[in-house]
Amino acid sequence: MAFDIEMIKKVYSQYDERIAAARKLVNKPLTLSEKILYAHLWAGNATEAYERGTSYVDFAPDRVAMQDATAQMALLQFMQAGRPKVAVPSTVHCDHLIQARDGAEQDLTRAKNESSEVFNFLSSVSNKYGIGFWKPGAGIIHQVVLENYAFPGGLMIGTDSHTVNAGGLGMIAIGVGGADACDVMAGLPWELKFPKLIGVKLTGKLSGWASPKDVILKVAGILTVKGGTGAIVEYFGEGAESLSCTGKGTICNMGAEIGATTSTFGYDESMERYLRATDRNEVADAANAIKGHLTADAEVYANPEQYFDQLIEINLSELEPSLNGPFTPDLYTPVSRMREEAEKNGWPLTVEWGLIGSCTNSSYEDLSRAASIAKQAIDKGLVTKAEFGINPGSEQVRYTADRDGLLKTFEDLNATIFTNACGPCIGMWDRKDADKQEKNTIVHSFNRNFAKRADGNPNTYAFVTSPEMVAAIAISGNLGFNPVTDTLTNKNGEQVKLDPPVGDELPTKGFAVEDAGYQAPAADGSNVVVDVAPTSDRLQLLEPFAAWEGTDLKGLKLLIKAKGKCTTDHISMAGPWLKYRGHLDNISNNMLIGAVNYFNDNTDDVKNQLTGTYGAVPATQRAYKAAGIGSIVVGDENYGEGSSREHAAMEPRHLGVRAVLVKSFARIHETNLKKQGMLGLTFANKDDYNKILEDDTIDIVGLTSFAPGTPLTLVLHHADGTKEEILANHTYNKQQIEWFKAGGALNIIRKNQG
Ligand code: SF4
Repeated sequence: MAFDIEMIKKVYSQYDERIAAARKLVNKPLTLSEKILYAHLWAGNATEAYERGTSYVDFAPDRVAMQDATAQMALLQFMQAGRPKVAVPSTVHCDHLIQARDGAEQDLTRAKNESSEVFNFLSSVSNKYGIGFWKPGAGIIHQVVLENYAFPGGLMIGTDSHTVNAGGLGMIAIGVGGADACDVMAGLPWELKFPKLIGVKLTGKLSGWASPKDVILKVAGILTVKGGTGAIVEYFGEGAESLSCTGKGTICNMGAEIGATTSTFGYDESMERYLRATDRNEVADAANAIKGHLTADAEVYANPEQYFDQLIEINLSELEPSLNGPFTPDLYTPVSRMREEAEKNGWPLTVEWGLIGSCTNSSYEDLSRAASIAKQAIDKGLVTKAEFGINPGSEQVRYTADRDGLLKTFEDLNATIFTNACGPCIGMWDRKDADKQEKNTIVHSFNRNFAKRADGNPNTYAFVTSPEMVAAIAISGNLGFNPVTDTLTNKNGEQVKLDPPVGDELPTKGFAVEDAGYQAPAADGSNVVVDVAPTSDRLQLLEPFAAWEGTDLKGLKLLIKAKGKCTTDHISMAGPWLKYRGHLDNISNNMLIGAVNYFNDNTDDVKNQLTGTYGAVPATQRAYKAAGIGSIVVGDENYGEGSSREHAAMEPRHLGVRAVLVKSFARIHETNLKKQGMLGLTFANKDDYNKILEDDTIDIVGLTSFAPGTPLTLVLHHADGTKEEILANHTYNKQQIEWFKAGGALNIIRKNQG
């Protein structure tokens, strides 16, 4: 599973020179985030000082991590790049496709049967292209990355929004779409808008029932789900140094819930302890050698208000345990007020389930603190009122926790130990009777608690809290239970009180594992055959998209004029469609089915101009494709906002849409369209949106002289025989115009290989 010490040493060897170059240009003390970013510029030493929140910058990430749901399309695309091997160390983690139901062993066996073709594909493609493969059951991507690959001062991207978890080990780690991961694995730069910086100063020290989870629950309450957008959150102060490394990971993990680009902490002794405990002495030694670069300049933390765009201060000594929810992770309620809030708002007080796990809270420390509560309950004659389930974060954590008796303690309290995987956190939970949709409450140690997320029941009120609080509340069976002040009645009718949790930051006897579940790639993968059955309905090898025909695009039919919000969910829905993420043709049957048709206010109901009848968007588009006719999609403001999912750009491309013309784009989606060789255009005059009529046929003129900054002309042929011209702007640079001409960025990469 080898972390790449040579790569890490190379990164560290560049720090001195690169930071000196940045310091000269920025001309003021540097935060940790700036140091890491400037040390990872694609171009090497900085040549300009970037403006936070404005400049677009090319970076060179050190690693790529992918989970099994998103890796499929990322790797299918990578195969198109024609590279023999990935350009940076990369890993795939099978954790999202394992449903929790009966317990670890049975659930894992079932998942392996159900998703064998996906796992086999991911295993063989990893083997071929030099990618480390973590088998189903090996653990949750972010726990495994923290245990094996994260390193202070590194820059990593991952195809999952909680990639940010690695900030706990001092990384800048950012969640991206599969197309970005594909580019970086193919050896291309990765572009990011230089983030703004939010400083969080932690003073004091946690005690009693308060935990690292309560820090981020508090921050979420302050910043709300949007407050971190476009920013890196940098934690510092004596309080930060008092937290364990995995506790820091918990805090960074839920930075995703405040919309932050990522979160991070400076290198300190807790990180060194964690590196050494996870068998990475060499990394700790290398980090110690450049320690000064792995934290902000002293002046920054002395006068933080001068160097951060926003500053928050939290005194850990005053922090109360809390629960956030229901339905949103930023609804903060300290435990002392929970009973009153629940009664006031009609949240069911009876708790049905307590769940511990997810990438947020599944470390050894988490399990040991929760187990200390479980042990007390047993010793004091209590029984759990709620059902109780545990997903350990990795096989290493599970094995060690088993050896140390922690799992036995949970089992003695009737807990079910599920697979080392995401499970209920991503809705992979076959919860008994969830389909009855009864109003009920669950508490969990995960990060997200949107309606339906865990069990599909819109009436499940889910509250996010720390693992030790999950244990206490599951034992009490009551959402209003405050372990700090309340007592419980035991089997003998006595009133007993739970003492505050205790736990081990790291296992005193060290970590152990028999089989971590890792498969190293073949040294030479050239003869490895990638496993994709032509009959599969879940996987399909990609064909390169056709190059531009070299002429203006004439006679495009209007497919849909979308009205109002059109997010990537409207363009490519999730839910049941997730299983087709590796099959472009099948998933294309969800193309734009959530978009509202301007002309009749319906979804998935557009006019087929060839027949005059109305039908589903994908079927209508397939009819145009079959007739060899291109089409155009028209949209409103901020078209394509939401996730970075590349399917939203690939599906229209696959089905023969030639252009997307909107009032404005969400930037990531606009870039994704460009990467796939599509035309992404904006109305030069937004009112021209009103000129587009249902039966329009449209020409795009000016492509033979397509150039940066020069608008294109669109000719609208209306059904009554009249026509009018409008102007469309675009943001294509020279390179992106080459992508368009070649039929997509991957076609260029492949050509350059040959
Ligand atoms: Fe995502 Fe939950 Fe899995 Fe974490 S545990 S990677 S949040 S699904």
